[in-house]
Amino acid sequence: MKRDYYEVLGVPRGADDKEIKKAFRTLARELHPDVNRHDPDAEAKFKEAAEAYEVLSDADSRAAYDRFGFDGLKQRGGFHDFSQFSFDDIIRSFFGEAMFGEDMFGGGRAASRGRDIAIPVELTLREAAAGVKRELEFEATVACEACGGTGAKPGTERATCTACNGAGRVRSVTRTAFGQFMQTGVCGACRGAGSVVEEACAACDGSGRTVAARKVSVEIPAGIADGQSIRMPGQGDLGAIGSAPGDLYVHVSVAPDEGLGRDGDDLIHHLKLTMVQAAVGHKAVIPTIEGDEEVDIRPGAQPGDVIVLKGRGMPRLRSRGRGELRLVVDVMVPHDLTQEQKELLREFEETTSDKNYAGGQGGLFNRIRAAFK
Ligand SMILES: [Zn+2]
Ligand SMILES: [Zn+2]
Repeated sequence: MKRDYYEVLGVPRGADDKEIKKAFRTLARELHPDVNRHDPDAEAKFKEAAEAYEVLSDADSRAAYDRFGFDGLKQRGGFHDFSQFSFDDIIRSFFGEAMFGEDMFGGGRAASRGRDIAIPVELTLREAAAGVKRELEFEATVACEACGGTGAKPGTERATCTACNGAGRVRSVTRTAFGQFMQTGVCGACRGAGSVVEEACAACDGSGRTVAARKVSVEIPAGIADGQSIRMPGQGDLGAIGSAPGDLYVHVSVAPDEGLGRDGDDLIHHLKLTMVQAAVGHKAVIPTIEGDEEVDIRPGAQPGDVIVLKGRGMPRLRSRGRGELRLVVDVMVPHDLTQEQKELLREFEETTSDKNYAGGQGGLFNRIRAAFK
């Protein structure tokens, strides 16, 4: 069940104290919960390593383990069960505050970036086809007006951070049980800004930010589809001083149109014809992006015929030209006929022959070509 401690730390049995410390330090960094949020095993692996390190870093425990294995440790009162401890607790218990947190894992925390903002916009199909400019109004974190976003009391200025001399980053040398090591990280005093507020602006408490209404105008390009978003970099919430602002995402929805369906850049209209209109031909009024229009339907249109109007679809978002408008023929068969109407149709039927119906069931390709305007 339990893995050999040397195997856990990945060191040979003859490893000296230095190698053992180094191996554990490396594992602790690799298995840090900030780095491994998505690995459910990381925590268990870290605790296994902590247990191995605790035993092998103590000369007496290690000697007992080397001679008698896990049984040898039991006689000495066993080993720590780390399962109830947090990562931070364990690091603290081994290394004390000096090795804990920021010093061990890469400097101070950088000031947090501004949040992204998402704003929904609904368009009609025709607006989506033409492209449209919209004024958006929303609440957002903006620069404090009183201090101009500096966070410093009006009339005063931010002072250069003495901890990093304005660089925003610091180099630290840490002396630990493992020896000393050096690293560069975000300056903890100014969180990367390079400057600090000496006297805080009263309006924003020194943050340089307030929440206020903001207006942004967005150009929605012709051809945009339902569900697409426009990203406006840097137009989201203002971040803390020394960090980047968030982005603004405009989520576009396009309301369904009554007469025109959409298939990518193509539009589809289901054209209903009466049996007689389909047979003798018809000037049909169809909806288009530009408005209602007359289209000549040739005699003999069949149900399912597709009439293609090239270049009458939606503009292509990322290239030139437009898709097509497809008219799909739907033939309506009359019902609830009077006696007189039935007589007329029967009389008509007598006059027809197979010739009148031949070719009606041609392939889709033939039908498209036959009906092509
Ligand atoms: Zn202010
Ligand atoms: Zn600093």
